[in-house]
Amino acid sequence: MVERLWKKILEGVRTRVSEGNFNAWFQPITPLRLEGSTLWISVPNPVFQEFLEKNYLSLFKEAAAEAGLENLVLKFEENSEEHPRIVPPPEVQVVPLDTTESGKTNGESDRFSTSFQYDFDSFVVGSSNRFAYAACRAVAQNPSRDYNPLYLYGGVGLGKTHLMQSVGREITLNYPNLKVCYLSTERFMNEMISSIAHRQQHEFRDRYRMVDVLLLDDIQFLSGKSGTQEELFHTFNALHDAQKQVVLSSDCPPNSLEKIEERLRSRFGWGLIADIQPPELETKVAILSRKAEAHNVVVPEEVKLYIADRVTSNIRELEGCFLRLIAFSSFRGKPITMSLARETFDQLFSESRQTVTVEAIQKHVATHYRIKVKDLIAKTNKASIVRPRQVAMYISRELTGASLPEIGRLFGGKHHTTVIHSLKTIKTLMERDPSFQQEIHKLLEVLR
Ligand code: ADP
Ligand code: MG
Repeated sequence: MVERLWKKILEGVRTRVSEGNFNAWFQPITPLRLEGSTLWISVPNPVFQEFLEKNYLSLFKEAAAEAGLENLVLKFEENSEEHPRIVPPPEVQVVPLDTTESGKTNGESDRFSTSFQYDFDSFVVGSSNRFAYAACRAVAQNPSRDYNPLYLYGGVGLGKTHLMQSVGREITLNYPNLKVCYLSTERFMNEMISSIAHRQQHEFRDRYRMVDVLLLDDIQFLSGKSGTQEELFHTFNALHDAQKQVVLSSDCPPNSLEKIEERLRSRFGWGLIADIQPPELETKVAILSRKAEAHNVVVPEEVKLYIADRVTSNIRELEGCFLRLIAFSSFRGKPITMSLARETFDQLFSESRQTVTVEAIQKHVATHYRIKVKDLIAKTNKASIVRPRQVAMYISRELTGASLPEIGRLFGGKHHTTVIHSLKTIKTLMERDPSFQQEIHKLLEVLR
């Protein structure tokens, strides 16, 4: 009885998570007994429980409801004997190299994703970012020489990730034998947690303590996460002692980092600290010129000024506005002129900006994925529907003022925890897969 129910629940779970995560987190657990709506399951260790509760509880409940068990309550029992083989989580497995990127690769560095999205050539230098740019170039030319660690900081969308990835790309080109690793701090933490749960801590440690260059993005994420801070402290020391290059980015200088141990904070400041300021008008115009070239479109100077003047600080937004203009122009079949720009942005830049509706988003997303709107709001959990639905929920959350329960309601009466789970899934996927991230950004730009 329990087994049959469990099988059904697992089937539901399988449609909602990646295969890697399914094997890592769900295969190793077994059902014990059912008391009313309380299901006891056996997990290999306490980290499993914590991780499942934190990340997959609502998903479990949903799958259980589908299997006919409403209001599931999960109880955990730890049993390490019963679980001789725990599958390593996907994050700790070897990351397959993106072969489309650089073609030729060398043995060891295959272990890291070396497909860097950005390069120095596409980075526009102005007075707001000149120093950070020069520091990054210097590190890329001579890693582990003068600036270790290199600490970059600046506001959202100002080019930190762009610069870090350029460093990574350049070093792999200049020094094909060095192991270069770029990752976000959030991913560092998730891999660490997974490694604990799957008894792969040694592998995890070795993995990061044996690289030649570690590029760790958005370390402000460490705030309040003492376990991850501890781990990073040791990783940092190992690398620094061995004179390996470390590059860090954050949204603020080291001494303003909150809830981060003093010993880490002080280490972050050991090398060179470089800031990136919001761009001045000239830099913004130069970035727009570069983008126009890249897209092979002609944009009059006054139009560039018009956009640059209105987008105040964030370069990501600047790009977004520009893409929108291009889309509008091709949609209308008209060249980019001042009047077209006004038409495109009048609404956007005015206070009373109309926001897009969830219905409009559903329509667009359904078209994009070649499915029907009614599938998006149906009860079906076919894999081909689930992902587009999650995407549509994510975009609805980003672009409309709708609350989580409201979004749930507009998607055929889903529970708000399902919405939360969808948002999380999309965020994780975007983090892991640059091309998926681009796809979502494009959808956002068009709908914004
Ligand atoms: P951050 O990591 O600081 O939030 P990103 O590096 O993700 O910002 O940059 C946001 C977007 O703006 C990216 O698409 C990036 O390529 C672009 N960008 C930022 N700074 C520049 C620049 N100086 N020249 C060209 N593109 C830039
Ligand atoms: Mg970034």
